[in-house]
Amino acid sequence: MDTRAAILWAPHTEWSVEDITLDPPKKGEVLVKLAASGLCHSDEHMVTGDMALPTDIAEMMGIAQFPVIGGHEGAGEVIEVGEGVTELEVGDHVVFSFIPSCGRCPSCRSGRSQVCDLGAFLLGGRQFTDQTARHHSKDGKDLGTMVALGTFSPYTVVSLDSCVKIDKDIPLEKAALVGCGVTTGWGSAVYAADVQPGETVVIYGVGGIGNAAVQGAAFAGARYVVVVEPVEWKREAIKDFGATHAVATHFEAHVLVSELTRGAMADKAILTVGTAEGHQVGELTSIIKKAGRAVITSVSPMLNEDVKLNLFDFAMQRKELVGCIFGNANPQVDIPKLLGLYMDGKLKLDEMITTEYALEDINQGYQDMRDGKNFRGVIRYT
Ligand SMILES: [Zn+2]
Ligand SMILES: [Zn+2]
Repeated sequence: MDTRAAILWAPHTEWSVEDITLDPPKKGEVLVKLAASGLCHSDEHMVTGDMALPTDIAEMMGIAQFPVIGGHEGAGEVIEVGEGVTELEVGDHVVFSFIPSCGRCPSCRSGRSQVCDLGAFLLGGRQFTDQTARHHSKDGKDLGTMVALGTFSPYTVVSLDSCVKIDKDIPLEKAALVGCGVTTGWGSAVYAADVQPGETVVIYGVGGIGNAAVQGAAFAGARYVVVVEPVEWKREAIKDFGATHAVATHFEAHVLVSELTRGAMADKAILTVGTAEGHQVGELTSIIKKAGRAVITSVSPMLNEDVKLNLFDFAMQRKELVGCIFGNANPQVDIPKLLGLYMDGKLKLDEMITTEYALEDINQGYQDMRDGKNFRGVIRYT
């Protein structure tokens, strides 16, 4: 079929909205008509090159990362199923999980499907089944898709393993956000940080993921949820999502948390800024108490190995540093769970969507993200 998509031909260029050709779904795949796509920061990391492999390394690994159709926060309706697909049928509503879960690999079988073995194929952006492309440019070039999804298009073909079936009464344009940002943020607080009632939690950076982390920490019963965010309107607005305090800098947060806890410091700290930098690891571990836990959720440049950390303090105070992907949540369990909370009014998604865009305005959407204008921008197809 013919459709349109926002393509990134190379890092450091703009998204190009073009006509494309989409093949029908093959074995284990489905064709989905999307309702909406979130504008997540991870696609911006492809633009800046932070999440792009250097050309020589990509060639050595046999990965063609570009050109790529962006977008990985999507939800829609199944309109065609490939051979052998029995778990989904035409008319079903699905949210895409940016992390696939095959249900068969050791990680999935031990309840850690956020590190499913299929994750190894995400950078290549080809179909998991046969490593070929279903998406093609008008002149016949194969197009990859961001984490094998490609939601910057009103139609896409994806693996069954990337789909989570949801109830039909849930608004799809809201459900889209739960495929990445919301679950990643909420799980960063609830699972990775394991926030307990009465604790003090510091959250650095409130875009879509940080916003959901604040909601998760508040939901888990934190006493103080302290946000560190340089953008002024976000510091005000985030209080409606559960933050008890918001300051502009790490230094201000350090002073405030020291006062709030009489010098004991925070139980947990979570990094959800746009791009993680090495010096922030030391900031996180300095603001937590003895045996406290720091969680790194943000993406950093792929080849960056610099970390600044006081190792004496880290070891002698028995501190913990935890990595986090998809909020350490399990897509098939947690996506329906969070949408249930949304339907009951216990998770704010409507309020998280600051601006809606047409696909053609995608570059404006990302400029607004860079300018700190949105918690979450969303492309609407319907
Ligand atoms: Zn994302
Ligand atoms: Zn798996």
